[in-house]
Amino acid sequence: MDDGPLSPGQERLWHALGLGPRWRERAAAGGAEPAATDPARAPVASLDWDGLERAVAACTACGLCQTRTQTVFGVGSRTASWMFVGEAPGAEEDARGEPFVGQAGRLLDNMLAAAGLARDEGQGEPVFIANVLKCRPPGNRNPDAAEVQACAPFLQRQVQLLQPRIIVVMGRFAAQCLLDTDASIASLRGRTHEYRAGAGAIPVVVTYHPAYLLRNLADKAKSWEDLCLARAALAGAGAGPA
Ligand code: URA
Repeated sequence: MDDGPLSPGQERLWHALGLGPRWRERAAAGGAEPAATDPARAPVASLDWDGLERAVAACTACGLCQTRTQTVFGVGSRTASWMFVGEAPGAEEDARGEPFVGQAGRLLDNMLAAAGLARDEGQGEPVFIANVLKCRPPGNRNPDAAEVQACAPFLQRQVQLLQPRIIVVMGRFAAQCLLDTDASIASLRGRTHEYRAGAGAIPVVVTYHPAYLLRNLADKAKSWEDLCLARAALAGAGAGPA
């Protein structure tokens, strides 16, 4: 584990979740690749895409491996500039092995299409879609701290391999995990943030989770604004980092 000091925000999250987002802390602290200092994570941090997918499929690092039907690695182009990150697979995703294939996924696909984006090759500008957790929490309960900690290296490696030019995080849970904050979605929206990866920083835009939008149709317009902000950030014309 990294023994570096926690920022106040990290302290809060540490206590709230019962763990520290050490993988994010290390990336933010100076860009060192975790593989160099943490043998437990070295294999994941050195895997290529196919190796990573195999490692996810074989993962038994937390109890979710006992209740999942299958892991949900992520979908889309492995050279995409756009990365979308959600929370965790639900029942349909667990059954099909693909993220966002339920009702919320159909809304996400429609929003992507409206922005000229698509998970399927040739349908639009490519995206890669992943979740913080690769396995379904039973009954769609919230992920717990140990599960997030166990799964974090996989998402981190996906970001390292993809090197997206923009990350759109969907929902409070993913936003808080990626940005190491306990702030609300409302306070995080409308500006770009940074996810530090290696020596660089990737702009991050926070938006509502599609499942939330299904229950709060009026906020779809705000999500559209978020996609426009993400596009502007990708083009280098977005608001500066928070
Ligand atoms: N919600 C998520 O956060 N991810 C999925 O893949 C499906 C629903």
